Amino acid sequence: MKTIDFHCDTMLRIFESSRGAGLKENDFQVDIEKLQRGQILAQFFALFFELDVVREKKKSPFDHTLEMLERFEEELRKNAKDIALAQRWEDLVKNEKEKKISAFLTIEEGEAIEGSLDKLAFFHKKGVRLITLTWNFENQIGFPNTQYKNQDRGLKPFGKDVIEGMNHLGMLIDVSHLSDRGFWDVAELSKKPFIASHSNARSVKSHPRNLSDEMLKALGNGGGVTGLNFAHYFLSSDGISKIEPMLKHMRHIINAAGIEALVFGTDFDGISGELEIENIGEIQGLIEAMEKGGFSAKEIEHITHKNGLRIIEEVLG
Ligand SMILES: [Zn+2]
Repeated sequence: MKTIDFHCDTMLRIFESSRGAGLKENDFQVDIEKLQRGQILAQFFALFFELDVVREKKKSPFDHTLEMLERFEEELRKNAKDIALAQRWEDLVKNEKEKKISAFLTIEEGEAIEGSLDKLAFFHKKGVRLITLTWNFENQIGFPNTQYKNQDRGLKPFGKDVIEGMNHLGMLIDVSHLSDRGFWDVAELSKKPFIASHSNARSVKSHPRNLSDEMLKALGNGGGVTGLNFAHYFLSSDGISKIEPMLKHMRHIINAAGIEALVFGTDFDGISGELEIENIGEIQGLIEAMEKGGFSAKEIEHITHKNGLRIIEEVLG
C-alpha cells in the first residue's frame, strides 16, 4: 500500500555523520532503499536542530538551517533517479509517474527564520513546505510543550504573523512540540487546515507531546491531520515501541478526530530504543497488522496516503 510519512529526522543524521553517510543507503532508519521497500510515495524530511547546541556554537540558526538544506539538495542531486523534491501535489503525482519517491522539505524549529518574515519567504522559495513552529525550546514564535509548564503560554506576536505568512505562502503549519495554548491560537488564527506532524493521543498515553481529545477534535474539524509517532514514550509505558499501542492510538484518533485526520509521522531517526517496526522499510508490516486488527481497506487507504494527499493539495496547492 503506497504510504506517506510526514516526519523523519534523517537529514540531521546525514548532516552530522562523520563517515559521510548519504541518503542512498545508510545505517539509519530511513534511506532510499528502505523507502522503496516500504512503498513510500512521499517522505517529509525535517531540517531539525537543537537550538541550544547551535547557540552554544555561536552559529546563526538561519545559516545552520541553510547549510543543512544545501546538504539535502546535494543528496537529492546525487539520487535524482530515485527521489525528487516535491513542493505541491502536482509534483508528487509527476514523481509517482516517474517511479520516484517525493521528498518534501520541512524545518523543525521555527527559530530558523530568526524572527523575520523575509527569511520565511526565503525558505519557502528554497522549497520548504512545512515548519514545526517550535522544538523543545522557547523561540520568537512561541513556547514548547516539553513539560506542561508552558501549557498556558500562547503564540507570541511574531508567531501570529508567521501563521498569516505561512497561510499566505501556502505552507503547512506544524503544531507538534507547541504548547497547548499555542495550539489553540493556531486553531483560531489559521485560515487553512494545519498539522501535528508527529503526535499521538494524550488520553491513550499521557504525555504533553500528545494531543488531548479536544485538540484532536478541533484539528479534525478544521481539516487537519496528526501523524502517528512511533517513539515508545509517546505510545505506551512499555519502554518498547510496539504495534499494539500504535493500533490503539490510531483507533482513538479516528474516533476523536475522524478518519480523515490521521496520517503517519514516524519520527524515524529521531527515535531510539527497541522498535517492532524498526525502520521505514518495515512499515508495510504495520499495515498488515492494521488489516488483521480490524481496520477496513477504506480506513487503511485514508491513513496511509489519501489524507496526506488531500491536505497536501489543499494547503500546498
Ligand atoms: Zn520532533
